[in-house]
Amino acid sequence: MSISARRVETFGTTIFTEINQLAQQYSALNLGQGKPDFDTPADIVAEMIKAAQSGQHNQYAPGPGIASLRHAVANHAARFYGLDIDPDQGVIVTAGATEGILSCVLGLVDPGDEVIVIEPFYDSYVPNILMAGATPVFVPLHPPTWTFDPDELRAAFTPRTRVLILNSPHNPSGRVFSREELSLVAELCIEHNVIVINDEVYEHLTLGGSTYIPIATLPGMFERTVTVSSAGKTFSATGWKIGWAYGHPDVLDGVARAHQFTIFAVHHPTQEAVAYALNQPDSYYNNFRTMYQSKLHLLMDALDGSGLTYRAPEGTYFIMADFSAVFDGMPRDFTRYLIKEIGVACIPPESMYSKGHVHIGKNYVRFSFCKSDQALVQAKGLLSKLRG
Ligand code: PMP
Ligand code: GLN
Repeated sequence: MSISARRVETFGTTIFTEINQLAQQYSALNLGQGKPDFDTPADIVAEMIKAAQSGQHNQYAPGPGIASLRHAVANHAARFYGLDIDPDQGVIVTAGATEGILSCVLGLVDPGDEVIVIEPFYDSYVPNILMAGATPVFVPLHPPTWTFDPDELRAAFTPRTRVLILNSPHNPSGRVFSREELSLVAELCIEHNVIVINDEVYEHLTLGGSTYIPIATLPGMFERTVTVSSAGKTFSATGWKIGWAYGHPDVLDGVARAHQFTIFAVHHPTQEAVAYALNQPDSYYNNFRTMYQSKLHLLMDALDGSGLTYRAPEGTYFIMADFSAVFDGMPRDFTRYLIKEIGVACIPPESMYSKGHVHIGKNYVRFSFCKSDQALVQAKGLLSKLRG
């Protein structure tokens, strides 16, 4: 019998673990979890090995992160977004974006506060909010365009709203929020004195010529935004779990306090390698985008032959596909059918919605294209069986 605390009582097994197990059991091609099936660039891995073998980096790193990585994060924000970040007081290196977001929530939100979450959401946000003793308030993106209703957003703000969690490019919808959309979020946050936690882990994964705009660059927002990102997506190194949070020292202060006592310090040799990685020339980032643009086309080609419909994503390595023309049932049922009968795994989005809003995503499942070209071509053959 479980003797767990009440705060974790409602937490189930993550959907990613559940689907990985099922995919393995049925030997399905796994387009579920956003986990590249190809390796981190060899020169970046070599930096990590060099750091580990140097005899200098195998003991505790400084709690906020090593200086070279904090500087690399600040330089990266200046180079791509024109942001002026203090590398000493304005950056904290975290154990992936996941710990970054948890430390933000624990460091900025009090019990009884409300936190606005845009749905469908990355699955750790709500457990993080609940662990802080706060209440999530949900604002859905409406398919097929995956846009929020301005009135629904406005109505979510109350005197108890403390934080809004934003994610752009957005997992799982593939939206990259426009300046107009972000301006409304900014206007409401300023009016209601709300802090934004901006999850930009897919910042370099923009597709079809779209441009990612960090909300911290909008007027009046730098002072009220903490931005979280990670090396996982940009350097195809999801197993390294190195992330960071940056922003104005005043918003980062609480985050730093929470970070000290959740993890204290992060894996040291890997921080050295990520500092090297962030300083890659523009060609790295451009080639990365080009690679994903071509993978996107392979997955779209596979879906086009399957009877599933979708809106091409503007960013991330995910597509939300509508299965209602080929299957009658909920996303979980379709996912099981797809894994067992067709041999392809995807992610059903039920766990990315609050109970009251699950119906909004009821025709959709998420496919990931951070996979080898060969796997994506194989997916086309398998998914074409759906038509038959
Ligand atoms: N936020 C979003 C939107 C994500 O998709 C992920 C990915 N896995 C994370 C946060 C977590 O990132 P990390 O692996 O760096 O903890
Ligand atoms: N971010 C990845 C995804 O959305 C998975 C991360 C995880 O397994 N928790 O697929």
